[in-house]
Amino acid sequence: MGLIVQKFGGTSVANIDCIRRAARRVQAAVADGHQVVVVVSAMAGTTNQLLAWCQDVMPPAPQPDTDAALSNAASTPIDADADANADAVVASGEQVTCGLMALALQQLGVPARSWQGWQLPIITTDSFSKAKIVSIQTDALLQDLATGRVAVIAGFQGVAPDGRITTLGRGGSDLSAVALAAALHADRCDIYTDVDGVYTVDPRIVARASKLAEVTYEEMLEMASAGAKVLQTRSVAVAMKCDVPLQVLSSFTDSPGTFVVKDKNLMEHQVVTGLTYTRDEAKVTLFNVPDTPGIAANIFGPLAAAQINVDMIVQSVSPNGKSTDMTFTVAKGDLARSVTALQAIQGQIGFEKLLSDAEVVKVSVIGVGMRSHAGVAATMFAALADKGINIQVISTSEIKISVLIAEAYLELALRTLHTAYGLDADEIDVTGDKIS
Ligand code: ADP
Ligand code: ASP
Ligand code: MG
Repeated sequence: MGLIVQKFGGTSVANIDCIRRAARRVQAAVADGHQVVVVVSAMAGTTNQLLAWCQDVMPPAPQPDTDAALSNAASTPIDADADANADAVVASGEQVTCGLMALALQQLGVPARSWQGWQLPIITTDSFSKAKIVSIQTDALLQDLATGRVAVIAGFQGVAPDGRITTLGRGGSDLSAVALAAALHADRCDIYTDVDGVYTVDPRIVARASKLAEVTYEEMLEMASAGAKVLQTRSVAVAMKCDVPLQVLSSFTDSPGTFVVKDKNLMEHQVVTGLTYTRDEAKVTLFNVPDTPGIAANIFGPLAAAQINVDMIVQSVSPNGKSTDMTFTVAKGDLARSVTALQAIQGQIGFEKLLSDAEVVKVSVIGVGMRSHAGVAATMFAALADKGINIQVISTSEIKISVLIAEAYLELALRTLHTAYGLDADEIDVTGDKIS
């Protein structure tokens, strides 16, 4: 018995039947003697619809296409009012499910109260659409829980210091749940979703994906930031920092989920824990860039000034000591702006030609075992070469290796690597240990 946070994602509250099913899980936890705080997402598809409506009313501002516009890019005032008004629209999806879930609980005889982010309040920064949680006031919530009511809280939203509604970035209900669990010192934070745990790879892409009994915070953080959207990246960072006991499980089945843990016994686990991918990368290559000190700053400085993040970077060896090719990736949504920005300063940088390619994907292999085992990268490169898949860019961190490949090869690459690292379902038992 204790205090648990149960979070239900979009597909788990997609319609009234789903909401009733989720409410029965809450009812069971209450019957077991727990105090329960429920966090809900909007119904599946709702947030996309709300965002689309905002864009219909107010299309994004035209991109800068001149030198002058570009050099002003960093200081161009962002229309904060528009962003704040859009957040008021987008946050409404969670308001609906929050009220419906509280009603469904009442129907089951479980006393419940709905809470919007501003009612607690969950105070955030005023960076609308990607706000950060600053603090959560729990006094009123705890008082209400003490009366025996379940608290149903709208995920994904908070309130800025000036009283305006904010949202926390896509997938942000995970963050709401984990932050509440941390603030309330909850005994557990259960993330209910449409898969029954964290798998070695997205089970919707690779049929032989294996469910992991446990994954470390560190691995989950790398997996989430490299594309595994089963948990939002920032939610994992907060869980890791605040030691929130976290579990991912299905709202549709009763199978055991995946625990996100601090450490695991490395002897018993695979060197590679999982594979991830992201389609949100686009590649830019600048040919024949003068190979002189400061050239990287000349290229990436203006991109940073235009708020464009660069991910992977590779610079080829200069064949003549005078010029080199520079390849890097940016978010797909930033590609057009990046190309415009660089073309505007072509003369200044002195490159000969720019080519871009949006039909690429980044595939990553992740595992804390990489620290103590050699050969993980070699296995990856050999397996991809064997299938004739060309690696365009490589980047590494202590527990992750990422490669950029043509989008057409995504599924083949994931299946091939999954087998190469011995992760296929029939080779792993439910504890995540290798059988053969
Ligand atoms: P929710 O709406 O419940 O927040 P999401 O759609 O955000 O659910 O996340 C669940 C989805 O994450 C799954 O349907 C699955 O396709 C995807 N996913 C990606 N990588 C993984 C992984 N390694 N393990 C499990 N699911 C994954
Ligand atoms: N509804 C929001 C989204 O679709 C938040 C969430 O589901 O976690 O991104
Ligand atoms: Mg999600």
